[in-house]
Amino acid sequence: MTQSGYNPFAVAQQQIDHAAAALGLDAATHAFLREPQHELAVTFPVKMDDGTTQAFRGFRIQYNTARGPAKGGLRWHPEETVDTVRALACWMTWKTAAVDLPLGGGKGGVVCDPKKLSESEKERVARGFVRAIGHNIDPWLDVPAPDVGTTPQIMAWMMDEYETMTHRRLPGIITGKPLGMGGSIGRNEATARGGWFVAREAANAFNIPLKGKTMVIQGFGNAGMFAAKIGEEMFGMKLVGVSGSKGAVRCPKGIDIKAMCEYYEKNKTAVGFPGTEEIPMENLLLEECDLLIPAALEGVLTKENAEKVKTKMILELANGPTTPEADEILFKRGICVLPDFLANAGGVTVSYFEQVQNCYNYYWDAETVRSSLDKKMTQACKEIFERALREKTPVRDAAYCVSIARVAQACKLRGWV
Ligand code: NAD
Repeated sequence: MTQSGYNPFAVAQQQIDHAAAALGLDAATHAFLREPQHELAVTFPVKMDDGTTQAFRGFRIQYNTARGPAKGGLRWHPEETVDTVRALACWMTWKTAAVDLPLGGGKGGVVCDPKKLSESEKERVARGFVRAIGHNIDPWLDVPAPDVGTTPQIMAWMMDEYETMTHRRLPGIITGKPLGMGGSIGRNEATARGGWFVAREAANAFNIPLKGKTMVIQGFGNAGMFAAKIGEEMFGMKLVGVSGSKGAVRCPKGIDIKAMCEYYEKNKTAVGFPGTEEIPMENLLLEECDLLIPAALEGVLTKENAEKVKTKMILELANGPTTPEADEILFKRGICVLPDFLANAGGVTVSYFEQVQNCYNYYWDAETVRSSLDKKMTQACKEIFERALREKTPVRDAAYCVSIARVAQACKLRGWV
């Protein structure tokens, strides 16, 4: 449970119940999929720069490994809770299954504020955490990755600690590593590029034209900025509104994307960009556009604003931007919502490619990564969109059914249920 009383794992379990009913899942499989398969909680000591020793609490949850090694990030956050990690590990299970990767779902975290740690303290936390969980992870069992508060450098330290523990070179133990240390070309842009492949397939399946149309992007970090650049490159999309944590701007005639990226990187805000008009943050999501891309926070499309959204399609690059009540309203209004665990699965797909390259010890060029990502995302969309059209359900419901059915089938084939 978080401090606000919101329990993300209770929400994740409700989603399973909903899909289990739609699929007619047997009681044993349903009960098994409602809970994590394996949870590890650790406390480990770290020597701080001032000479004191601090005890850190960490978690690693392997939610389900029926389809392959658990895959999912490591969050360093001061308010990390085990229920948040459980929920995120659960959602990773459906995400890897949605894209049909031979992987399960996992997530981990350390309760700490990385902003308050020096670089050398971060390194000791990273190494201490790996020493604490190292006997429970393995490239063929559980493969962590970066997430909130962690970086490619932290992944490199963790990989090094694991290799020291095991006396072997096993870069596939962790993904999101720096280039030159086993990382994959194309990981930075993967979430946004994967999202555009999903949008392209949805445009075809649901007959919503994209070429030369308008987009609004909430959040201009890694996912949002690449989404703007790639949307322009692939479809000549026009950016008509954008926001960051410090404010929102609009310009119905279109914003120069390259210049805006440079401006945002320099000023850490879109506000003040020449030719744009500042608007209240909450109004950005109500701007008229053909495609709305939430790429910042969870819970931003709610029952309060869903009636007023003026778009044809929503590409959820952020995790959990739409509440269940808003989802219902948007579906009734005929707005196509492309759900997070499909829309932003490009990131984990290229993480999987990173692991494949690590296993081969042979590295791909940018074109191979892009075309392999295109193939995976296109194939994933096909089955999910066909189901949504056939059953006349929201894409999210169809995606849950496809993913949960895949995991359930793997559990059955193993004879677990
Ligand atoms: P990021 O930290 O690089 O960027 C986040 C952006 O959101 C920043 O520009 C920040 O200023 C902005 N922001 C914060 N509060 C805001 C607010 N109230 N209104 C508008 N903008 C606000 O993070 P990211 O990696 O781009 O991730 C964004 C979302 O996408 C998150 O939900 C994340 O979980 C999800 N996601 C990212 C990846 C990935 O590979 N980067 C993969 C899967 C999911």
